Amino acid sequence: MKRIFCLLLLYTFLYKCDAQTVWQNKRCAVVLTYDDAIAQQLDNAIPVLDSLQLKATFYLTGYFAKDRLNDWKKVGAKGYELGNHTLYHPCNGGKGREWVKPDYDLRQYTVQRMVDETRMTNVFLHTLDGKTKRTFAYTCGDMKIADTSFIEQMKDDFVAARAVRNEMHTIDKVDLYNVDCYMVNNNTAEQMIQWVKKAEATNSLLVILFHGVGGGNSLNIQVSEHSKFLHYLKQREKHIWIATMLAAAEHIAQYNKQKTQ
Ligand SMILES: [Zn+2]
Repeated sequence: MKRIFCLLLLYTFLYKCDAQTVWQNKRCAVVLTYDDAIAQQLDNAIPVLDSLQLKATFYLTGYFAKDRLNDWKKVGAKGYELGNHTLYHPCNGGKGREWVKPDYDLRQYTVQRMVDETRMTNVFLHTLDGKTKRTFAYTCGDMKIADTSFIEQMKDDFVAARAVRNEMHTIDKVDLYNVDCYMVNNNTAEQMIQWVKKAEATNSLLVILFHGVGGGNSLNIQVSEHSKFLHYLKQREKHIWIATMLAAAEHIAQYNKQKTQ
């Protein structure tokens, strides 16, 4: 009986050690993502990220990025990931989505048109940062044209794709082409710190999705709360791997490959 108990204890200890080493020897991974190429991200988020030397992913929509192209170029040069968020931000229109313009309503798209637009966005982003590897973020979280999942045709174009469902998972449970994330909607730093605490306690990947930072979108976070949260993350850096989506996704892909060998 005593022997079984000891074995159980040893197993629990080894499992715990394994769980704590999968994220570059840290307890969890946190990926900060910023969508839609909003000017306030350049003006309010980048200075804080720069000052704390934290990396993040900016999912650019080509049409929205066009007014500050040189600034986005500088963001890429600093080592931030410029992720793909299409050229025109097409979404499924309809109920509750009256703001979707008919020309960019996914219900009017074919799969080929979506694939073409997305690949052309990669060409656009390549002209900004010269990179050939990046990740994708589904616009409005929409993954299908009618009943067809368009990512199936784009898996060679992207290392991963971020969705919008707010969940977090351990490394073995992350679906790289449907990465869950917590969307910020006027949250306080304290609320977001609770997400991080949960990620640390469960050895999970926590992806956070920002839109406006001090304005620029109705899905917003106050500048002071954003800064407070990032300072907390920096302070916990010893225990948290803070990475771009690309770096985290490549790490997960490598881990999965080794597991199956
Ligand atoms: Zn978006």
